[in-house]
Amino acid sequence: MEFEFTEEQRMIQDTVRRFAEKEIGPLAAEVDRTERFPKETLKKMAELGLMSLLVPEEAGGTSMGAVAYSLVLQEIGRACASHAVITSVTNMVCEGIYRFGTPAQKARCIPKIASGEYPAAAFALTEPGAGSDAGSLRATAERRGDEYVLNGTKIFITSGTYAGVMMVAAKTNREAGSKGISVFLVEQGTPGLKVGRKEEKLGQRGSDTVEIILEECRVPVENLLGNEGDGFRIMLASLGGGRVGIASNSCGLGRAAFEAARVYARERKQFGRPIADFQAIQFKIADMATQLDAATLLTLRAADLKEKGLPCNKEASMAKLIASETAQRICREAIQIHGGYGYVNEYPVERYLRDAMVLTLYEGTSEVQRIVIARDVLAA
Ligand SMILES: Cc1cc2nc3c(=O)[nH]c(=O)nc-3n(C[C@H](O)[C@H](O)[C@H](O)COP(=O)(O)OP(=O)(O)OC[C@H]3O[C@@H](n4cnc5c(N)ncnc54)[C@H](O)[C@@H]3O)c2cc1C
Repeated sequence: MEFEFTEEQRMIQDTVRRFAEKEIGPLAAEVDRTERFPKETLKKMAELGLMSLLVPEEAGGTSMGAVAYSLVLQEIGRACASHAVITSVTNMVCEGIYRFGTPAQKARCIPKIASGEYPAAAFALTEPGAGSDAGSLRATAERRGDEYVLNGTKIFITSGTYAGVMMVAAKTNREAGSKGISVFLVEQGTPGLKVGRKEEKLGQRGSDTVEIILEECRVPVENLLGNEGDGFRIMLASLGGGRVGIASNSCGLGRAAFEAARVYARERKQFGRPIADFQAIQFKIADMATQLDAATLLTLRAADLKEKGLPCNKEASMAKLIASETAQRICREAIQIHGGYGYVNEYPVERYLRDAMVLTLYEGTSEVQRIVIARDVLAA
């Protein structure tokens, strides 16, 4: 079993770490406070090739592979959870268009995502009545001549205001259940595509989360991604890969909280000595380090399987489950180690916990990950 990164993966990790520490980390508190979508940094990230990591070069991507993708997202997640989720979703959509798109769709969308001409890309599945049970969605797409006409409401859509292109799931056949779902590429400016309410969130506040309203939204038939009825499979396949991204973001955020706690434990003195001298604090630090390594190793295993083109649905769910729950636990412990200072915004750990809370919800809740894992394990 090989535990070494390649020279190239190490180089990507170093480059992105330096970039994230210099360009992203210093903005994290401000984008959280002002709820500002960080367009300028995202453009720089695209210029570094970070928005099309899973797409081959001949298709306009940077082809760095899933392990490097995970390393990149860990570094960005360590610097700022808002930047990390935008990057992760944009890469997921870029890969989805590469995997399921026609040559014309790839040629039109991938270069714009990869270059940063599109500030982000979005994935529109969830609806008010269809969250975990995404197959019960109600948006419709009716074919009229050379167009499909989309109607419905999507909620909680990451980067919905800024995305140049969005993968939108809608029913082309209302009687066929999840087999009646199709996916459409909907570009910004399409008539009938409206941005609705912007959510005010507990954390990840630099990431835009909005309602998307489709009102007689007309897209040309060429914008159908895959075939009619393939949509649910396409969305689930995309989410399967996307979970490696959220797991990686979680490891990065968990590492940031762990590092903050380690530094503070050495600096803070009570009873005449650093609190790191107390075994109660040492045990917390030991548990945090161990759990973080466990989460990171499972995340890299899922990334490695994905890179090799091997089945990794169960492993991606395991990675997302452990990494998101570990990140939350580490963030809570980091606050405990900071004492009262952890609860106020003089230190970043209160933001880390707020940012961590959504990790067990989006791209499938922890309960949904357990369903995916149990189904696989019990069928074996
Ligand atoms: C900040 C943010 C960003 C998001 N970004 C996107 C995005 O870009 N695109 C997108 O399409 N969606 C996005 N989402 C939506 C997200 O994926 C959903 O919120 C999530 O899938 C859960 O759906 P729900 O909120 O409707 O919860 P529900 O499905 O109503 O779940 C409520 C509770 O019931 C549990 N539950 C549900 N079904 C079962 C079951 N069968 N067994 C056991 N427990 C169950 C859940 O685990 C949860 O604890 C985002 C959400 C947030 C908060």
